[in-house]
Amino acid sequence: MAAIVVVGGGAAGMVAAWRAVLKGHHVTLLEANQKLGVKLRISGGGKCNITHDGTVESVAGAFSKEQARFLKPSFHGFSNADVIELLHREGVETYVRENGRVFPLDRPGSAAAVVAAFEGVMRRAGVQVRTGIRVMGLEGRAPRMAALRLEDGKLLKADGFILATGGASYPETGTRGEIVGWLENMGVPTLPWAPALAPIPLKAPHPSWEGVAFRNGTLRLLEGKGGRRIGAFSGDVVFTRNGISGPAALELSRQTESSRRKGLVWLGYDFAGRSEAELDSELRHEQIENPHLSVRNWLQRWVPERVAESLWRTEGLGELRMKDLPKGIRSTLVRWVSAFPLGLPGAVPLERGEVAAGGVARSAVDPHSMRVKNWENLQVCGELLDIDGPVGGYNLQAAFSTGFMAGESAGIPASHD
Ligand SMILES: Cc1cc2nc3c(=O)[nH]c(=O)nc-3n(C[C@H](O)[C@H](O)[C@H](O)COP(=O)(O)OP(=O)(O)OC[C@H]3O[C@@H](n4cnc5c(N)ncnc54)[C@H](O)[C@@H]3O)c2cc1C
Repeated sequence: MAAIVVVGGGAAGMVAAWRAVLKGHHVTLLEANQKLGVKLRISGGGKCNITHDGTVESVAGAFSKEQARFLKPSFHGFSNADVIELLHREGVETYVRENGRVFPLDRPGSAAAVVAAFEGVMRRAGVQVRTGIRVMGLEGRAPRMAALRLEDGKLLKADGFILATGGASYPETGTRGEIVGWLENMGVPTLPWAPALAPIPLKAPHPSWEGVAFRNGTLRLLEGKGGRRIGAFSGDVVFTRNGISGPAALELSRQTESSRRKGLVWLGYDFAGRSEAELDSELRHEQIENPHLSVRNWLQRWVPERVAESLWRTEGLGELRMKDLPKGIRSTLVRWVSAFPLGLPGAVPLERGEVAAGGVARSAVDPHSMRVKNWENLQVCGELLDIDGPVGGYNLQAAFSTGFMAGESAGIPASHD
């Protein structure tokens, strides 16, 4: 029996502590907040999209190829079905939405019920929980971690350490990401934190369009205005006061920020999903077939009314029928529909991302035990790892599953580093 300390009482830490105590270890969980699972409680807008439906292969397949390879052993160890079964056992009913996302039944406090379920199994199994304690430093040299430095200056020694401190977004939930700097100083390979699944600010925002949604099209990331396409995501975009949010913006935020740092990038929205030439010929056809159709009405087939009206005003266009449409304006209309200019993105905020990319390098961690390579008694799990999945319950599943693997292997000496 070993003394194991788990740092971080979120999705990953609670599962890690539960599994480690079931292995017969003496387990203490430290959490900076007064309550456990603060980020879980706000996830999915308080409804908590716990996981995603489907086979282990399909859940892993939602991540990048490299991340999927790393995650597969964990997903097999503690799958989406296992998470759901645990919740059902604890009295939390779940349902699957049409898009495969799994939620607890829609009732007030459903996210809190998920936290209560994980907290319950863990406490009943015998984990010692200490909340309101922030870890301020790590003591040790490879191959052994020796102790944690606590807020009050005291050292907490243990035989094994599981770090589950999450990412670096939403710092108000306790996740400040500072542990990555300490690990780096100890020689553990890390990658800098970077925003992911975050809203994208625009250099020239459209505050009067706040709340307007562009639907059923594709957000495109271009190498400068009219340049080569470097990224795309099909889905909706919603205007915010200072930029864009919505599924397509969130999913493209990581690439937008990394490309933006390398040079000029431009964002456009493709409503129609066809080439400019195809759209142009469609419009010419419309001119012949429907000469009296209002051009503004044609535009509103694609572009939401509030935006179409404002474009109309800005361009100083009056009532215009198809038969009177000049070629120059036809080209402008084609551009608005096939590559609506959203413009230059500003710096994507790390703190507003649903996850943070970066953290402990996957290559430094054994995916079967979550042990940091070259270290005997140091494990990491959850978002602290360089893992960032798409929206859809994937990130929580990754946290639960990697936490499970860490807990199962706690206190076992490294075997195949
Ligand atoms: C607004 C929002 C909505 C989201 N919605 C979803 C969703 O619906 N579905 C989904 O799959 N994912 C969602 N996510 C992502 C998901 O919540 C996280 O990926 C997941 O919670 C990560 O789990 P974790 O255990 O690794 O970290 P966390 O849950 O963040 O837990 C880490 C814990 O460590 C503690 N800690 C950190 N540093 C220290 C320290 N030095 N000392 C002591 N304690 C420390 C923190 O206080 C925190 O409680 C959302 C995220 C956000 C921000």
